[in-house]
Amino acid sequence: MNYLGFDAYEKSINKIGSYLVFMAKEGDETVIIAQREGTPGEPWFIGKDLGDGKVRASLTHENAETLRKLFPFTAPVRVLRHDRSFGVGDRLGIAVFGHIRLFEEYDAYPVFAQQSIRELNLTNRTFEDVLDTVTFAVFREGFKKGFGADGDHLKTFKDVEYALSLGFSMITLDCSDHIKNDVTEKNTPPLPKHYADKYLDKKFDIGEGISLSFSEGELKTTLAIYGEAINFAANMYTRFLKDGRYKADLEISIDETLAPTTPLQHFFVARELIDAGVSFVTLAPRFCGEFQKGIDYIGDLARFEEEINIHAVIARHFNYKLSIHSGSDKFSVFPSIGRETRGVFHVKTAGTNWLEAMRIVAMTDPDLYREVHTYALSAFSEAVKYYHVTTDLSKIPDVSTLKDEDLPALFDQNNARQLIHITYGLILNKKNADGSFAFKDRLYKLWKNHEAEYAAALIKHIGKHLDLLGVRKSQGIVR
Ligand code: ZN
Repeated sequence: MNYLGFDAYEKSINKIGSYLVFMAKEGDETVIIAQREGTPGEPWFIGKDLGDGKVRASLTHENAETLRKLFPFTAPVRVLRHDRSFGVGDRLGIAVFGHIRLFEEYDAYPVFAQQSIRELNLTNRTFEDVLDTVTFAVFREGFKKGFGADGDHLKTFKDVEYALSLGFSMITLDCSDHIKNDVTEKNTPPLPKHYADKYLDKKFDIGEGISLSFSEGELKTTLAIYGEAINFAANMYTRFLKDGRYKADLEISIDETLAPTTPLQHFFVARELIDAGVSFVTLAPRFCGEFQKGIDYIGDLARFEEEINIHAVIARHFNYKLSIHSGSDKFSVFPSIGRETRGVFHVKTAGTNWLEAMRIVAMTDPDLYREVHTYALSAFSEAVKYYHVTTDLSKIPDVSTLKDEDLPALFDQNNARQLIHITYGLILNKKNADGSFAFKDRLYKLWKNHEAEYAAALIKHIGKHLDLLGVRKSQGIVR
């Protein structure tokens, strides 16, 4: 809309006191226009002085920080404490507009900024950039419901401090490096008396008709597998979160291991963490079966339902939420997750947002898609080192003979999905001989031109996740 002579984003127009701030389109660029009367005070935007107390400011990190200070709805908040929260890793920094429209409608709180250090490295991004992108989008669209920012799968104190110092509202502590995978009953040390006294010959009634008890062997191996991870989490908590100087919630992640977390092990880890004084809001066990990237659940559904029930009872007993990682496209288990957790959960997705972006490429530029796909096939053996997937490349149709209109349907096939899913970093970083990006710039240009289609695709696809989890739509739009 035309506003004071600018091509303004209508929902971005904000007035507080003597301040007027909004976003406008200038050619290919989006800028902040800010005006104030009276005595200048801090903070204020850095940009070109347009006279009349008016400034045109670019979307820089400094200006994002100013925006967060002036308009708190553009800063992350602790959404993990709500019954339903949902993480949407937007690796590309372009999915957030679709996500905003989706979470305006659903009765769940979004974590729009969610990246791991690995994802930062593969996308050449920083936590600053990930958060600033969301701040600007939320301001542009007038999304005032509140969103979270997740320093996802952090493994070192340095990374935890980095995310916290920027105002991230949750830390997902990845304990996997401290979980032992090679434990057998034979190679475990004798059980310390303290643990024997605490756990053996006891029945732990966790409510809802379920009680748990440990055999000596089970207790010994559980302690050997998780003991160090519990210490690691307790140390991190004491160092950064205990005194409350950072306003952030803690998620404990023990999901990145080879063996599933049994309900008994889950109970032990939670109990030990709580007894060590660690306050956490969510815990992510590794569930039975396989949660492979970007495709539906693989495994025994009946067994999953049985175990998720006990995991959920344990979480209720200790008063935290279950967190479900690698939640992209796990459609066959969403109904039981929603039901057994009684609608109290955190679910994380990431890769599926990237796959929807690539589906848009297949729909709108078949030649570019074929180029990327062909490169992905050549890069697969490199990428697969970092993932556990069961992709069968021989089952993917040959894109050189596939008709243009059949390309988007590749994204309905598991093998093609995983091919494109796990090669995202290599695709984005692939360079030509002259040092320019082989695909990245062309892809971003395409996505910019198809922002509305991408948003619509995400609303449909992530919306399907929320529907199956049993998340209801709110009455009208929540702003
Ligand atoms: Zn995880």
